[in-house]
Amino acid sequence: MKKKIPVGVLGATGMVGQQYINLLRDHPWFEVVYVAASPSSVGKKYKDALKNGWIVAGELPVHVADLTVHDVADVDAAAKVCKLVFSAFEMPDKEAIRKTEDSYAAAGIPVFSNASAHRHTPDVPMLIAEINPHHLSIIPAQQKARGWKQGFIVVKPNCSLQSYLTPVYALMQAGYDVQKIIVTTMQAVSGAGYPGVASLDIIDNVVPYIGGEEEKTEFEPYKILGGIKGGKFTPHKGMAISAHCNRVPVSDGHLACVSIGFGKKKPDEKTIRSIWKKFTAEPQRLRLPLAPKQPILYREEANRPQPKHDRDADKAMAVSVGRLRPCNVLDYRFVALSHNTVRGAAGGGILNAELALKKGYLG
Ligand code: NAP
Repeated sequence: MKKKIPVGVLGATGMVGQQYINLLRDHPWFEVVYVAASPSSVGKKYKDALKNGWIVAGELPVHVADLTVHDVADVDAAAKVCKLVFSAFEMPDKEAIRKTEDSYAAAGIPVFSNASAHRHTPDVPMLIAEINPHHLSIIPAQQKARGWKQGFIVVKPNCSLQSYLTPVYALMQAGYDVQKIIVTTMQAVSGAGYPGVASLDIIDNVVPYIGGEEEKTEFEPYKILGGIKGGKFTPHKGMAISAHCNRVPVSDGHLACVSIGFGKKKPDEKTIRSIWKKFTAEPQRLRLPLAPKQPILYREEANRPQPKHDRDADKAMAVSVGRLRPCNVLDYRFVALSHNTVRGAAGGGILNAELALKKGYLG
């Protein structure tokens, strides 16, 4: 690929926006040329608009530091320079986010979003590139239904399910019918954006409630694992999911303890390990730049995966899994971990855009 594609980051000053800028610094296909945030940041240089400073790893990329921050609502300004945008902005309500993202797509700009606003929209793909890359095929129907020409919207699921759904999907793809899942997440503080949970609420503590998170963890897998009929997604059926979502005093990395129950055909432990270790998918076959070499890394140590040691595995894009053993209630249990602001947010969004580009959806 010769000339890089000019891209914008909406919500560029936030936790996830900064992670986009960090991950795109030397990207072979995309180059950040445009940044946007709330009206309070408009007109400032990017480096001066960071209310809490640069809070992700590494130095702030020089070519982005001096970009002027635009208003997320200023679609015309973005349309002059961006061929696609990564969306990671907040607004007071979901309807406002939906309308704003729609206005970008209507202006011919593909939107790769981290927001939850469009996750329930029946013709908007909710993508984990290793699981449902074929869901991108709905894009022409989405564009036709709305009269959009080049623009479209693709969303990412919630970060809470990134850790456990890929290992579960790998078993389903190998022919095993996963019917029951009980998942208990231990989610990092960075999942709440910056500054996140007040330190006095989280140090020396676990908060057994994250608003809306259990509902998302229980709903979103059905869309991701579902089919397409008449230009709309149809939910996967025959799987019950029960989620407990907890906030824990960890900076980055969402951990999930999972019990799974199969239908009549049950794999043995050796087979499950082998399926996970051999699992690869379209991002690996297409050699997408941000794709982990192995999407699932199985750790044999009895006390892994751990957020501190395993969240950065393979560019922080791999899911680390371990502690596979029989379950006394369902069939098996295991532990899974993924980096919430990389794999679960910006890295996942970039991987989706890489996939869309390789599959010809970006013109
Ligand atoms: P954040 O740190 O609070 O950043 C919010 C961003 O939105 C900032 O750039 C902010 O700009 C901008 N913004 C705020 N109000 C706005 C308005 N009225 N109009 C336009 N822009 C506005 O939040 P975050 O954690 O990065 O999350 C961003 C999105 O990603 C959310 O939808 C979140 O649910 C999703 N997400 C987050 C994670 C995670 O692990 N943190 C994971 C997956 C998905 P200013 O700096 O100018 O205020």
